[in-house]
Amino acid sequence: MTYQNYSLKQLQHIDAAHHLHPFTDHKELRAAGSRIITRAEGPFIYDLEGAEILDGMAGLWCVNVGYGRDELADAAYRQMKELPYYNSFFKCSTPTPVLLSKRLAEIAPKGIDQVFYGSSGSEANDTALRLVRHYWALEGKPEKNRIISRQNAYHGSTVAGTSLGGMEPMHQQLGGAVPNIVHVMMPYAYELALPGESDHDFGLRAARAVEDAILEAGADKVAAFIGEPVMGAGGVKIPPASYWPEVERICRKYDVLLMLDEVITGYGRTGEWFAATTYGISPDTITTAKALTSGYQPLSALLVGDRIARTLVEKSGEFNHGYTYSGHPVACAVALANLDIIEKEGLVERVKTDTGPYFAQALQEQIAGKGLVGEVRSVGLMGAIEIVKDKATKERFEGNGKAAVVVRDHAIANGMMLRATGDTMILSPPLIWTRATIDMACERIAKALDLAEADLRAM
Ligand code: PMP
Repeated sequence: MTYQNYSLKQLQHIDAAHHLHPFTDHKELRAAGSRIITRAEGPFIYDLEGAEILDGMAGLWCVNVGYGRDELADAAYRQMKELPYYNSFFKCSTPTPVLLSKRLAEIAPKGIDQVFYGSSGSEANDTALRLVRHYWALEGKPEKNRIISRQNAYHGSTVAGTSLGGMEPMHQQLGGAVPNIVHVMMPYAYELALPGESDHDFGLRAARAVEDAILEAGADKVAAFIGEPVMGAGGVKIPPASYWPEVERICRKYDVLLMLDEVITGYGRTGEWFAATTYGISPDTITTAKALTSGYQPLSALLVGDRIARTLVEKSGEFNHGYTYSGHPVACAVALANLDIIEKEGLVERVKTDTGPYFAQALQEQIAGKGLVGEVRSVGLMGAIEIVKDKATKERFEGNGKAAVVVRDHAIANGMMLRATGDTMILSPPLIWTRATIDMACERIAKALDLAEADLRAM
């Protein structure tokens, strides 16, 4: 029996009866009923009732090559027929993770040549946390194990991911975080820069918070700093250009490892293969997932720099860590085919030289002037729109994020999927978007903003 035998109401009813969703208020969801997406093609998704919606979020920051790619389905099919699964434990390997590792070493920033696989970004960050602590233990400094992260960071939803992340509501439900992780201020100039403080100076001040945390603990107690190059789930918070080079300088000064979480920014989103290149920094680890397969298969890859890898390989002993699906042959086959598409279609270069700049300009010209908009910002093909009650004072609407939900609901009704995070609308479209798609999106968002403004001002 396929889903076509069910009505929308029936599916919603079954969904409500048996399916617990991620990050969801189930009472609210059950009252409203879920939106059921049944198919997708190119940049569009379609719900059960046939509504066509332009997907401004690439699924969940992942479908970079767009929907309906036969090459990826074929790669999965061929691999499933030949070898659907075998593990990479016990001195075994299968061909696709071997070849994918070589490919990733080629596109990764210089000095990064090893890969450890998982199925999700959260798993990859668990691996990263354990690996850097293991590294310092192998170096004879087991007490150098503190990790510095940032408030409002998102690093996943496992216990380690939540502990690394800085989302307060998630910590409240954690019942005990992984010890020895601290959180410093985020580089979010729109809300945190002082009156009259330049972006440049604010970036340096935010970086100094990392140095303060190192000094407070003592450098011999700090293993690493972890950060998303651009904070994604926290609201596409784009740091000033001064921030990352200064963070890197501070990390090197105190011999603290630099871990980047590129689960969102990896594989072209910022107009480079990795945002490490966009910001001109050389991390020791890069966490990646999502667009590695364009979301067609669950797969994450922790890219491990030569310094850590050398110690891991040269000092004897087992790293007691790994997953059943580490190096899953089907997921890796799909990743290889996905990287082929990105390369063949020149998507990374296109974001850098064409669609990224056009997206920035379109947001400025078509969205920034709207009455509800405090700021627009973007890097490559990821962007944010700040929703405010008063543009000049940056005052927000009451209700902590409720205004953004009003905008989002109008956008979806108007054929445009985007996300509301707090009082910020966020966009992270497939990299296949053209100038025409960007114009279509801006037109729909502009209309949603106008309709939402009428609603919100009338409340
Ligand atoms: N890190 C970042 C920066 C993310 O955005 C996410 C997911 N949105 C994760 C980690 C966790 O990835 P996953 O949901 O695949 O576990």
